[in-house]
Amino acid sequence: MQIGRWNHQTSGGSSGEHSRSPYPSRYKGRGGTRYSGTRDRNRPSDRYSSSGRGHASPHRRGFGAFGETEAEIEKFMNKSFVTAEEPAYVPEHKFSDFDVDDRLKKNIATKGYELPTPIQDKAIPHILLDKDVVGLAETGTGKTAAFLVPLIDKIMKRPQERVLVMAPTRELAVQIERELAGFAKGLGFRGMVAVGGANIAPQISALRHVPAFVIGTPGRLKDLMERKALDLSGFGTVVLDEADRMLDMGFIDDMRFILSHMRHERHTLFFSATMSKEIERLIGDFLSDPVIISVKARDTSRNVEQDVVRIPRSADKFETLAQMLEGSEFSRVLVFGRTKFGVEKLAKELSRRHIHAESIHGNKTHSARTRALEAFKRGSVSVLVATDVAARGLDIPSVSHVINYDLPSTYEDYVHRIGRTGRAANKGKALTFVRER
Ligand code: AMP
Repeated sequence: MQIGRWNHQTSGGSSGEHSRSPYPSRYKGRGGTRYSGTRDRNRPSDRYSSSGRGHASPHRRGFGAFGETEAEIEKFMNKSFVTAEEPAYVPEHKFSDFDVDDRLKKNIATKGYELPTPIQDKAIPHILLDKDVVGLAETGTGKTAAFLVPLIDKIMKRPQERVLVMAPTRELAVQIERELAGFAKGLGFRGMVAVGGANIAPQISALRHVPAFVIGTPGRLKDLMERKALDLSGFGTVVLDEADRMLDMGFIDDMRFILSHMRHERHTLFFSATMSKEIERLIGDFLSDPVIISVKARDTSRNVEQDVVRIPRSADKFETLAQMLEGSEFSRVLVFGRTKFGVEKLAKELSRRHIHAESIHGNKTHSARTRALEAFKRGSVSVLVATDVAARGLDIPSVSHVINYDLPSTYEDYVHRIGRTGRAANKGKALTFVRER
């Protein structure tokens, strides 16, 4: 089943032809790339002058050496243009129609959710009947509430039940727990987060309180099991969130190990943005007679205007970025780099230019990543530089621009990156740096 986007917006000028766009010409200048966007009036122009001419930046070697070509990027961009309009999705249910506890309905309303998204509309009735479900949906579709709402109701009706949620990254696990805390407010049970890169001792003591929901990354969950802090024999429900990503990240053996220690008769929910032979095999191994629900994965690009920033050979890529970020319309910018080292270095160089930037990548501790993310969400820094893995699944409101400073390595990564902007009813812009040959 293919169903349309719940909060459909028109594409707002994303024509799909690079040459029609205002960007490339604006970014090109004599003797180097220049961005002539509006400056932030609060920044003294002498200190933050963005004329890059003749500037010998240390970044040229570090960040400009990947050989991004237009042909390469077109491979990504052309596929994700959406030109046809689709009618807005009309859900079959309202939240009040679902057979869930009234107190939970109240919390849903308090969170401001009026109508279910397609994945919620289609999945919740099946999950409430204890059916195994495969949800082919990516972040931004409302998949988290699609599993949390019916599972919270399950815990309310059967307080002995316990739920395990596996997610690929620490950030996603934390995000799920936050959403859970909102829905479960005042309902008398709790969830805990079990992720690597954070001190294990508080997680061990949290587990002693027998939380109804344990949300974690596979490596840390296995670690806790091996330390006998987590006994899964009482767990009858499991959610595998972003299963394709967990597979990509090499968690498959840990996932199998963890599932083998759960109750044999279990309720399994499986979410993945993509379908592949391997994913099909996992579904066959882990689920029994599942209902399969597919939400169009590409629709995030509908709200996102996509463009290429061409950088002449003679120009400095870092300088182009720095000049661009000085424009006031670049209010909350997610910049993607390819390596952990490159991401860290880029954030530091930007900060040195007084463009306040934070970074998230796998070499940072969990708390440092959380701090960086919070600063970005709060708006105390306007730029977050990230690797694909660290940014996967993040739900950050009002990201104005996604900048692909380094090219993504796959089309899937491109779609995930640009899906960080243009969320809900907002419009966003995705700019991809391409070095001219
Ligand atoms: P997710 O795909 O679960 O990461 O959700 C994406 C965003 O949509 C989150 O910020 C949710 O809080 C929000 N959201 C999910 N379901 C709804 C809904 N039914 N109505 C409004 N917002 C929602």
